[in-house]
Amino acid sequence: MFGQSEQQSLEIVTEVMSNNVQVPFSFGDAYISEVENTLKAFRSDTAVLSACLFDEEGKVFAAFHKDTANYFLPTQMPPQTAERIYSYSKNDTLHTFCHFIADSKPGYFYIQKKSAKNNVLLNLVATTLIVVLISLVLGILSALFLQQAISTPISSLIDTMQNVAKQQDYATRVTESGDIELRTLSQVFNDMLLQIEKRDASLQEIKHQLEERVEERTKELQDKTQALQLSNNELQQFAYIASHDMQEPLRIIGSFSQILAKRYQNTLDNEMKEYISFIVDAVGRMQTLIKDLLSFSRVGTAKMQIKPVVLSNLLLKCTSNLRFAIEECNAQINYADTLPVINADETKTLQLFQNLLSNAIKFRKDTIKPIINISIQEEPTEWLFTISDNGIGIEKDYSEKIFMIFQRLSTAYSGTGIGLAICKKVVELHGGRIWFESEKDKGSTFYFTYKKDF
Ligand code: ADP
Repeated sequence: MFGQSEQQSLEIVTEVMSNNVQVPFSFGDAYISEVENTLKAFRSDTAVLSACLFDEEGKVFAAFHKDTANYFLPTQMPPQTAERIYSYSKNDTLHTFCHFIADSKPGYFYIQKKSAKNNVLLNLVATTLIVVLISLVLGILSALFLQQAISTPISSLIDTMQNVAKQQDYATRVTESGDIELRTLSQVFNDMLLQIEKRDASLQEIKHQLEERVEERTKELQDKTQALQLSNNELQQFAYIASHDMQEPLRIIGSFSQILAKRYQNTLDNEMKEYISFIVDAVGRMQTLIKDLLSFSRVGTAKMQIKPVVLSNLLLKCTSNLRFAIEECNAQINYADTLPVINADETKTLQLFQNLLSNAIKFRKDTIKPIINISIQEEPTEWLFTISDNGIGIEKDYSEKIFMIFQRLSTAYSGTGIGLAICKKVVELHGGRIWFESEKDKGSTFYFTYKKDF
């Protein structure tokens, strides 16, 4: 019968072969012919009668056999209790099974071999060579299979992902191929692309609608601004012409009232004379109001004349214009000897300083000498001007109000409430802001800025 070594060597061959055929077996029927071709290598081993790959129920997956009378395939798989490698001999023939589980699919690899007592060594060498050859072929087959089944679909998936990321083309789809996991992965990716495509489309729609709405609103705004600008210009023009034309009748009322008072000074009683002086006073106030209104409307209508302004010269002119008011109360006005030269409209800037300085003098305290400090500071994008006084101060509640036209906090002082409105307009025309800090009875500090790059 069979020697121990002959049985062992066949068991080794069976086990090695079973390891090699497991991958194609697990991939299914499409790989039957590859396994069959591989098994044909046993042709050169005269002792091997047949070799076969069974599934667990004993159904043949792939088989090889020599066309001899001794050939038959077992109809029964080894008993449940058998070892993984199971052999038995019958009629001078050795049968060996190797049980395996490939990717959770159980199966048997089986070899049937007749006794070869006389040339054991030769058979062993031949069988080993066959096994090596078969292993090689199967290895190449498995690699090819893996490439086709796994690498190709994965690299196609990666290519598509990169394309989507680069070109943001969410209409692209991955071809669904490969095994079930890869196909599921491709499906999930395609579903995700579909979702993004839908969301992208609705975002585009919303963006389009928003753009249209912004365009409409911008147009409306432009139309309104234009209409506003037009009516503003007309209003300024009207204010200018009206106030200008009112001066003449006012001048006539004033002068004829004075003529009346003079001519009938002996006939008029005191009450009449008082009435006439009321008329003359009112006319005077009206004339001042009209003069101020005219300068307010002129600030807005006159074109800006930007040129380098030597601030020390401008302040000199300003204090000279206010010399009577300054001398009357012996006011002290302090500022540095050297002041910068700035780009500005000289006439408007002179008017601005004059208004602020005359207010600082007008709203002085009777008990102390008025001291006014002027300073100019260079900031990165603007000039910061500060004018502080030691006058009567302003209550906090009026911070915004006093820059509005006709806003006066007390009638105890002369004025029309137009000066600071003019200041605000001049500052804004120079791209700046104006504000103040003050406390009642503790003096006021007015700040304003001019944009540097005019
Ligand atoms: P007007 O001087 O003709 O009254 P302005 O517009 O120049 O008008 O000023 C508005 C009001 O702001 C003034 O009536 C006064 O109450 C207040 N004001 C302005 N400057 C000062 C100041 N330096 N100190 C105190 N109050 C001031």
